[in-house]
Amino acid sequence: MCESCGAKLSRRRALTGLGISVLGMTALGATISAAPASAATLKNAAWCNPALGRFPDGGHYGAPRPGGPHAGQDVTNSTGTAVYAAAAGTVIRRSWGGGLGGRTGNAIVLSHGGGIYTYYGHLDAYRVALGKSVSAGQRIADMGATGNVTGPHLHFEVHSGGLGPTVNPVPFLAARGVDLGGGWPRIDPGARGATVTVIQHLLNQRGSELVADGNYGSVSVTAVKRFQQTNGLADDGQVGPATWPKLVPSLNQGARGHHVRGLQVALNKRSAGLLVDGEFAGVTATAVRDFQRANRLVADGNAGPITWRALVG
Ligand SMILES: [Zn+2]
Repeated sequence: MCESCGAKLSRRRALTGLGISVLGMTALGATISAAPASAATLKNAAWCNPALGRFPDGGHYGAPRPGGPHAGQDVTNSTGTAVYAAAAGTVIRRSWGGGLGGRTGNAIVLSHGGGIYTYYGHLDAYRVALGKSVSAGQRIADMGATGNVTGPHLHFEVHSGGLGPTVNPVPFLAARGVDLGGGWPRIDPGARGATVTVIQHLLNQRGSELVADGNYGSVSVTAVKRFQQTNGLADDGQVGPATWPKLVPSLNQGARGHHVRGLQVALNKRSAGLLVDGEFAGVTATAVRDFQRANRLVADGNAGPITWRALVG
């Protein structure tokens, strides 16, 4: 975890962060329900997990640090593990500590608009240039141990209301359907983007005839609800941790069909650059293996549930 990364939080923010960790789920739920009322749901597939790993002891938001409370959440994995953009945005910093006080190590800061920023710290290598636009899930860096750290990890921060004031990234992402560190995402009706296209291809493999346009509208919602009913699931139209495991097939080289298209779209969201042709040939198998290696999964080239979860999470 980070030795420093104390970021001189405002007193109010520091107390909020500590309150969540002390009070647990009740406080967490209250925080989530206090999200802006304008959006019907924030689980709109715009956000995704930036790195696969685990939360180290003492690496939580608000943990005591010499320079002030810990400004982010640490996600531990080995040096070289892929780091992805948590949402679409622009690379506004690519420098030591992101040019922000209290931070050390190679860092990237993305601007997502609306006063929202994400910070990726202690990177081993950059994979995107300053000023570039990035898509959600695009690989931007490699995890590392640069700066003042006890070992390799991603130090991940979310800034809200401008660059500077931080919020706890764990409930922030949870409210947006993302499990920081890894897990199945929650995708609600009205969502848009590549992960919705994946869902549409997977449903088409099971007999639906959806336009795979990445728009989770009423026709796709009806198809998901029908799938949920058929599989004994609550038919709420949310594609979440109960629905995903029943929806994703295990795919090996030689497979062909809509489900392979879904796999290729999911790989492309994580920067694979494949032709989406529905053919699980050598090029796709290599892309699966590369993704597995970059995320410290068993690199067997087969797309099973663990690989799917890492891809769509
Ligand atoms: Zn940290």
